[in-house]
Formats: sequence, C-alpha cells, structure tokens
Amino acid sequence: MRKSTAGMGANAFKPAEGVLLAPMTTLGVGGPARYFAKATSCRELRLCVEWARERHLPILIIGGGSNLLVSDEGFPGLALKIEIRSLQIETQRGCVIARAGAGLDWDQFVKECVARGWAGIECLSGIPGSVGATPIQNVGAYGQEVSQTIVSVRALELETNNIVEFRANECQFGYRTSRFKARHKDRLAIIEVAYRLEPGGRPKIQYAELEQYLAERGCRAPGLDDVRRAVLAIRRRKAMVIDPSDPDSRSAGSFFINPVLTLAEFEDLQKRAQKLGFQHVPAFAAPDGLLKVPAAWLIERAGFERGYKRGGVGISTKHALAIVNLGSGTAREIFELARQIKSRVRDMFGIELQPEPTIVGFQEPL
Ligand SMILES: Cc1cc2nc3c(=O)[nH]c(=O)nc-3n(C[C@H](O)[C@H](O)[C@H](O)COP(=O)(O)OP(=O)(O)OC[C@H]3O[C@@H](n4cnc5c(N)ncnc54)[C@H](O)[C@@H]3O)c2cc1C
Repeated sequence: MRKSTAGMGANAFKPAEGVLLAPMTTLGVGGPARYFAKATSCRELRLCVEWARERHLPILIIGGGSNLLVSDEGFPGLALKIEIRSLQIETQRGCVIARAGAGLDWDQFVKECVARGWAGIECLSGIPGSVGATPIQNVGAYGQEVSQTIVSVRALELETNNIVEFRANECQFGYRTSRFKARHKDRLAIIEVAYRLEPGGRPKIQYAELEQYLAERGCRAPGLDDVRRAVLAIRRRKAMVIDPSDPDSRSAGSFFINPVLTLAEFEDLQKRAQKLGFQHVPAFAAPDGLLKVPAAWLIERAGFERGYKRGGVGISTKHALAIVNLGSGTAREIFELARQIKSRVRDMFGIELQPEPTIVGFQEPL
C-alpha cells in the first residue's frame, strides 16, 4: 500500500442541503441527505471530506446508486457523489493499462474497451453503476469478475484525507467482496481503478448460459462484440439492465448473495430440503471445495415467487433475486420484504442470506 499526502486549500465549500437521494438510486427510494455535494476531481473530493470531518459528519459515498438502499429518513451527514471521469491509457508489455476515474459509467467504459478490442471485461457488460464501485464487491457476472483484471485501486482515506493505493493482491478480493466492503468499509473514497486488458484478446466464455446462447445462434468463434451483445440480451431477459420502460429493472440487481457452503453445511441443507419435499438442491462448485447455492432457488421455495407483490414493492417477474419498487414503494417496504424473505429462508433451510446492496439509515439489522 502506498500513501501520499497533499496540502489542503482552505477554500470555502458549501454543500447543498436537504437533497433527496431517491432519484440517485436505481430502486428510486431514499429520503434527503442533510448535505450533498459532487466531486469532479480529487481536489474537490478532499475539500468535501475536510468540510465534513471538521463538522464530525458521517460521509456516504454515492456512485451510480445501483447497489444502495437508503432509508426514507435519508442520511444525516454529507452524501458525496463521485464524478471523477478521468481516463488514462498506457501499454505495458503488450497489455493495455486503463486507469479509469471512479465516476465513469461502468458500462460505457466496458463498451469503449470492447470497441477498441481490449479483452478482459466484456462479460461484465450491462452492469449499472460507476467504475469506482466495481472493486467494492468485486463485481462479477457470466464468468468474469473485475478482480481478474484490476491492477490497482487508488483511494482517499476519509479519516486522514491521504491518498492510498492498493495493488490487486492487497484488495482481498473474494466472491462479491473485497477489503473495501469488509475491513475498509466506509473508510475510503475510491478515486481511480486501473485494469489490465488484452489488446486483440479473445473473449473467455466460461459460463454455460452464455455459451449456449452463442451456440444457439451459430456463433462458433465469437468476438468481444458478439459476447457483449449476447450478455446484454441475456441480461435484458432478466431485467438486469436498467431500462426505464421495464418496471422489473427498478431494483438494486440481486438483493441477496448466493450462499457459499461447506460440504457439511450443504448436506444439512439437503436434509432440511428433503424433509420439506424438495429432493434436489442445486449447487455449483466454488473455490476451496465449497459449494455455491443459488439464493433464488431458496427464495422461490420459501414462497417468494417471481411477481410476488407486497404493498408498493415486490419481486421481479423475471428474476427471483431482484426486489423491485413497483412505483410507489418505500425504502421501509423494501427493507421489510427483504427481512421477511431472510427470516423465512432461515426458518425453512437454516441458511442466513446476506444482502448484496449497502443498506443505509436503518437502525435495526436486516
Ligand atoms: C439491474 C441491476 C443489475 C446488476 N447486476 C449486477 C451484476 O451482474 N453483478 C454485480 O456484481 N452487481 C450487479 N449489480 C449491482 C451494482 O450494479 C454493482 O454493485 C455496482 O458496482 C454498483 O455501482 P454504483 O456506482 O451504482 O454503486 P452505489 O450503488 O452508488 O454504491 C454501492 C456501494 O459502493 C460504495 N461506493 C460507490 N462508489 C464508491 C467510491 N467511488 N468509493 C468508495 N465507495 C463507493 C457506496 O458507498 C455503497 O456502499 C446490479 C444492479 C442492478 C440495479
């Protein structure tokens, strides 16, 4: 980890007050932030952080708001939207190193890399949100994760206002996690992420559904662009691409992470499932001899099927893992539905589902 410090200008900084966060999240819920500001450069970011620190205010970093559930009461500190949109490209030993500003739109960045023929992130097409959030939960889909291409992450330490840099092996990446989601949760503002991409590289197709989709269309030697188009099409079928005309996409994506179990835990789950009349529990091999169980299977068997509705919220008609705001839903309703799902899955299967989005402003745990 490298550290560097820079002097702060004593510039006057005035954040906006009482800004509603709902329009900044894909769930479309969330009350006002007491203070709100946008940071378009590292210098602005430091000023905002310094301002909040002097007033002992908590800071909420916001990217694209696609993995955030903010309470209806809002946020009592400074909500800080990162809009640093720099992009630097270098070549190193035949590879491209793309240093992308945290505020760049992730899918635009993927599109640009695919168009230039740089392989490594094509299967991550269509994921909403910002570049800066991708290392946080080690964003992944269709056989790729950003940990496979990230070289380093630069961030601002909120407590000290120092810039720190983590090499990939220091990021503690795991399945939907990293040090930024665990040990350093809420302690850093990510400024820039460097990805190593392969110019002229072939796409790596390691996901059965994607392979099948391409094969069915006679695409035997797909290029990066074919893979991007296929991933977008598959995602659209599941409302996993933000589309204002598709009410099922008014979500935070998957609300729960797929549980990863030891063999003994899986056997226990199977016994419980069999007693309930379910003969076969699906599972996929995960690293270290563990087994990944689809959370969607557990949720549907617990009685929360696609299209389930409760008040102003429900479950997507296309994907059992997505909790959706049906239009008039509140953050409290989303929280309560998630809580009900979690509790029923626990009671029936003995599995403690973990939420994927960051949950802000609720006093009680989910
Ligand atoms: C329709 C849909 C489909 C999705 N599909 C996938 C998928 O296939 N795979 C997947 O992994 N995820 C998926 N997601 C989840 C989400 O898109 C990703 O987690 C994304 O990386 C979140 O980015 P964001 O900028 O919107 O983060 P936000 O929602 O703004 O923030 C999420 C968390 O990251 C923090 N954060 C954001 N930016 C920064 C920063 N610069 N520095 C420090 N902290 C920061 C926030 O404080 C918060 O804790 C999906 C979401 C939706 C709505």
